[in-house]
Amino acid sequence: MSVRVRFAPSPTGYLHIGGARTALYNYLFAKANNGKFILRVEDTDLERSKREYEESQLEDLNWLGITYDEGPDKPGDVGPYRQSERTEIYKEYAKKLVDQGLAYYDFCSDEELEKMKEQAMKEGRPPHYTGKWRNEEFFEEAANKLAAGEKGAIRFKAPKKSYILQDEVRGRVVFPENMVGDFVLIRSNGLPVYNFCCVIDDMLMKISHVIRGEDHLNNSVRQLMIYDALNAEPPSFAHVSLLIGKDRQKLSKRHGATSTRLYKEESYLPSALVNYLCLLGWSHPDEKEIFRIDDIAHIFDSKRFSKAAAIYDLEKLKWVNGMHIRSLPEDILKEEIEKFIKEDHFYFKQSDSWKKSVIDLFKNQIEFFSDFEKRLNEDLLHSNIVKTEKLEEVLSWDTTKQISDFLKNKIDIIDGEYLSKNQFQEIFKALKSDLGLKGKPLFMGTRVSLTGQDHGPELGDLIPLIPLNFLKKRLSNF
Ligand code: GLU
Repeated sequence: MSVRVRFAPSPTGYLHIGGARTALYNYLFAKANNGKFILRVEDTDLERSKREYEESQLEDLNWLGITYDEGPDKPGDVGPYRQSERTEIYKEYAKKLVDQGLAYYDFCSDEELEKMKEQAMKEGRPPHYTGKWRNEEFFEEAANKLAAGEKGAIRFKAPKKSYILQDEVRGRVVFPENMVGDFVLIRSNGLPVYNFCCVIDDMLMKISHVIRGEDHLNNSVRQLMIYDALNAEPPSFAHVSLLIGKDRQKLSKRHGATSTRLYKEESYLPSALVNYLCLLGWSHPDEKEIFRIDDIAHIFDSKRFSKAAAIYDLEKLKWVNGMHIRSLPEDILKEEIEKFIKEDHFYFKQSDSWKKSVIDLFKNQIEFFSDFEKRLNEDLLHSNIVKTEKLEEVLSWDTTKQISDFLKNKIDIIDGEYLSKNQFQEIFKALKSDLGLKGKPLFMGTRVSLTGQDHGPELGDLIPLIPLNFLKKRLSNF
């Protein structure tokens, strides 16, 4: 059987990162199995669905590199790919079910349905439909009402039996008899409901595997019932675990942005975001954490989905982003970093070799391109002393005063724009032997005197990149 999977977003908002992960899993599963990935827009909720949301969701998928083979803008043989354009298809199938006695027209008003529910609750029964229209003796009355132009809903006669779902992730799931009562397929206003559209579309679009969030697990019993009624083979199901926050609550804005768009705006790398999303609910066979999506397509396997809810950790995502930044080819990294540096920045007036060296120096310390300018300003170009408790302690040592005086004397008389690596090494050697210092007093004293900070990159790498006038200015603070 050829593999066909789908992502079926409702265009009622921006692309949620949970949705992006579902789309990604389907994309990878199709790739891994030489299958096709279909994008279907589930816009049956006409009030909440908006074309601009559809456009923005497709745009965000595209940004993430999650491309599909068929969709509203990529017609294939089984379109249209927007549910709002398929209403007649759903009506036709619903009518067929009515003709077969598997569904019926229901003319109950909302008040009657509400009363039915209340009565059932009172009697401790499940709030299932018990209206008269499910009985054959009223079918003729229903037909007359229809003929007279009255609008009725089409309701499915839920079989009285239990259902078993062999889920790829959750294993054997049993839905007991009586879990669901008769449910609506087409509302009296002519609009079809999600569970029905989903089955009709999955069937007609020849979907072989449904990979979606665990929040849809309970929908599958209604969907299995409809497959049965249509005499169609259901696809294989994989309900992947939900994303939760560190506090184990449903993912919300408190845990970080939930809309994919915001990650784009905050200039995360799409390759990093899909890498991280992939890890939330799936694991690499070699336990690798950093990879490019298309590099794992050949090993992507639904057996490696995890059952446990996945904890969304923004800090880890930032780390993954940093790892992806570091793995960029040198020229691209430089180009991207420069987009985030102010136009009139000191950086742009320096030589290419200086630029290359500072990028090499700081690339391991950044999680975002924009961090680079911060590192430049704070670790290289500032001329103040950044006072911390640790730094105050170093400043209080007599040896630090000796070191800064020594350095001031040596450096003040040097001309040029920078100290060379050799010059710095020689000064340091002389400092060591003249003052007879070693260990922490020597290293910390030198670092604090020259950088005004108690931490930072290797001095031998850092100092030759600091403009000499900055070094002189800083030493004059002592
Ligand atoms: N439109 C549904 C959603 O956005 C899709 C459910 C499904 O994949 O069956 O959650």
